[in-house]
Amino acid sequence: MRFIDLAAQQRRIRDRIDQRIKTVLEHGQYIMGPEVGELESILAGYAGVNHAVSCGSGTDALLMALMALGVGGDDMIITTPFTFIATAEVISLLGARPVFADIDPKTYNICPSSISQCIDKTPPGAIKGIIAVDLFGLPADYSAIMAIAAEHGLFVLGDAAQSFGSEVNYQKACAMPDISATSFFPAKPLGCYGDGGMCFSNDTQLAEALRSIRAHGKGQHKYENDRIGINGRLDTIQAAILLEKFSLFPEEIILRNQVAKRYGDYLSDTAKDNLVLPTVPDDYVSAWAQYSVLARDAANRQILMDRLKEKDIPTAIYYPKPLHLQKAFASLGYRKGDFPVSEDLANRIFSLPMHPYLDENEQEQIAEALRT
Ligand SMILES: *Cc1c(COP(=O)(O)O)cnc(C)c1O
Repeated sequence: MRFIDLAAQQRRIRDRIDQRIKTVLEHGQYIMGPEVGELESILAGYAGVNHAVSCGSGTDALLMALMALGVGGDDMIITTPFTFIATAEVISLLGARPVFADIDPKTYNICPSSISQCIDKTPPGAIKGIIAVDLFGLPADYSAIMAIAAEHGLFVLGDAAQSFGSEVNYQKACAMPDISATSFFPAKPLGCYGDGGMCFSNDTQLAEALRSIRAHGKGQHKYENDRIGINGRLDTIQAAILLEKFSLFPEEIILRNQVAKRYGDYLSDTAKDNLVLPTVPDDYVSAWAQYSVLARDAANRQILMDRLKEKDIPTAIYYPKPLHLQKAFASLGYRKGDFPVSEDLANRIFSLPMHPYLDENEQEQIAEALRT
């Protein structure tokens, strides 16, 4: 059994992907070829935003978004410690300072009241913005977060690396913050065959800044440089691959939700005293990048993961160590105990196989292994 089965998806569209790659090899516009613009307009339409700007990775999308927002110097940016390192890494890369706020114990996303407490403890004006993460594909609580941000004049950047395709009240999550960033890393809900990413925004000025930043801060002309930027372009070949993969994507979001629902059905009895299953608030649609459950404690998690491994069922831990306890962020001065919800989760969480093509048989086996 596979944790994420990319081959099952490829079998459905292999011929069309080959054809798309062939077209790129024939026209030869490997950098910023026509497929890049085509992908941007299709995904902007799907996300329901005015502007989509593609780039080289999800990390570059976050970095470019912060650069477009003018982050640097002594700025403080609030974010969650229970995420992939890239979310906070880009803050430090720009010389700014991550300020962590603990997560909600039900959704595992940043907790709006923790954000408010952070703001209250900091000198007025020091905090510039908030990076919310849609962890495992579930949108953050944007309505509460946007309200706090508006009250204090902060920007909100959504780290939608795991959540492209997710919704709240029929609105795509990546259309909710001021700007959002997704990743096309192969294992993400919409992945390419290499690295890729994209920013989404309704703000025309931000979009113009992003287009400039991704090409070394170009102005009207490529050798006219208006600002410091990066080499952050998406390869034409990856855009071509994404165009074909996107043709399956809306259906795959439905399939992922069916898989998640089946897990809920099959695991409901086990869940009573042994496991906590993921919660999806009303009106939310998750993109189900991961299906993550909580064991009773670290020892119980090890027992369950070993039992699954014996049956050749792969699992993974996202994330075993919250960011405030990582050596890379030691200089921020946080200590064990600072974010109890994140620390508790890191000890108990693990993820089960999740992809659109996981079938009932496989899920029965997984449930059975967890039951005995
Ligand atoms: C994957 C991921 C990223 C980084 O994306 P890359 O494309 O690998 O650079 C950032 N944030 C989160 C939450 C992610 O899961």
